[in-house]
Amino acid sequence: MLNITDYHRPNTVKEAVALLVPGRAVVAGGTDLMVNPRYTQGITELVDITGLGLSYIRRADGLKAKGAIYLGAATTMYEIQNSTLLASVAGGILAQAAGTCGSPNIRNVATIGGNVCAALPSGDTLTTLLVLDARVTLEGAGGQREVALADFFLGPARTVLQNELVVEISFPVPEPPGGAAFYKLGRTEEDISIVNAAARLALDPAGRVSQARIAAGAVAPTPLRAYQAEEFLLGKLPGPATFAEAARLTMEAVKPITDQRATAEYRRQVTGGCARRALEQAAAIARQSL
Ligand SMILES: Cc1cc2nc3c(=O)[nH]c(=O)nc-3n(C[C@H](O)[C@H](O)[C@H](O)COP(=O)(O)OP(=O)(O)OC[C@H]3O[C@@H](n4cnc5c(N)ncnc54)[C@H](O)[C@@H]3O)c2cc1C
Repeated sequence: MLNITDYHRPNTVKEAVALLVPGRAVVAGGTDLMVNPRYTQGITELVDITGLGLSYIRRADGLKAKGAIYLGAATTMYEIQNSTLLASVAGGILAQAAGTCGSPNIRNVATIGGNVCAALPSGDTLTTLLVLDARVTLEGAGGQREVALADFFLGPARTVLQNELVVEISFPVPEPPGGAAFYKLGRTEEDISIVNAAARLALDPAGRVSQARIAAGAVAPTPLRAYQAEEFLLGKLPGPATFAEAARLTMEAVKPITDQRATAEYRRQVTGGCARRALEQAAAIARQSL
């Protein structure tokens, strides 16, 4: 932070976007930006986005579909963790994941937009957002564009953002509701994930899988959708053999590294266990809604 010579606090998204030129970075909660030098490399000015009215959690219902959830980028982990609306959607997995992000004092300021834009493979809300088919709304000098979260990450701390602000994250309310689960393995409750996984399943009236999503975190350069495992699950009856094969396919998809938290091999093995547990839990909830 020693390089920072100026600090801007705009009041509108338009003003903020106009300030976003090379050499300036967005700051929200600052819990990644202030502790990780990679976010301030080449940066001399900060643009604070906490005064733009981007702190909200809304549901908008369509005529036929169940509608969608809209999250302002500056909504804090505390607000997401404690949202009764989010607790009622997809088994509350996003609220649960937000509740595992660091300690209470971190969650009071850390934002969902910051978790997405920091683009760390271990970001705890990212696997849940991936299985919810989340989309990200970006705004830059040229206007707004929307990208699927699965296409937003380019590598560790690298995204498709080009002097743009993430203004909103949205996802459809799952229909049929089915079941969903999030599973995090951390060294301590407050530590970042060694591995995390999220799963979402819907079952048809015969009890076969009609929709499947699996995502794993901290096991590849970006949070990862396990597409092959998802495809394998379609049309199958949930059960130990089915989930063991889906877990094996998820393990095959990961490209973990060894670091101070775990070895690559440990991460690969544990990915299978996390994915299987998330699938079992999601299936148990989905069965109840049949
Ligand atoms: C002690 C500690 C524990 C932590 N534990 C966890 C954990 O368990 N799980 C976890 O996932 N994370 C954890 N983190 C990381 C961090 O808290 C989260 O990633 C948090 O969500 C980041 O949000 P922020 O608002 O603080 O982002 P900031 O630090 O403000 O920003 C992070 C990056 O995103 C950019 N940015 C932020 N918002 C936007 C936007 N709207 N548009 C464009 N760019 C933007 C910034 O320019 C910067 O590059 C921890 C951090 C600390 C310090």
